[in-house]
Amino acid sequence: MSIIESLVKVVDPAEARRREEQRRSEREQAERADSGAPPEAYECRVCGHRDQQGAYCPTCLADTMRKLR
Ligand SMILES: [Zn+2]
Repeated sequence: MSIIESLVKVVDPAEARRREEQRRSEREQAERADSGAPPEAYECRVCGHRDQQGAYCPTCLADTMRKLR
């Protein structure tokens, strides 16, 4: 086996794996962007607490949550 042949065998699988990992990470990022943020989020106008529960703030124990866009 020539030096060139062994170099190709060593280099190519690594390069192929690197490209595959890059493709996979790009795909995962695209999927994350697709699913996106939760459809609704609320923020307390008093303490700034955020969740997806709705108007009632568990910190202030009052209906102080407002809807975020
Ligand atoms: Zn609050």
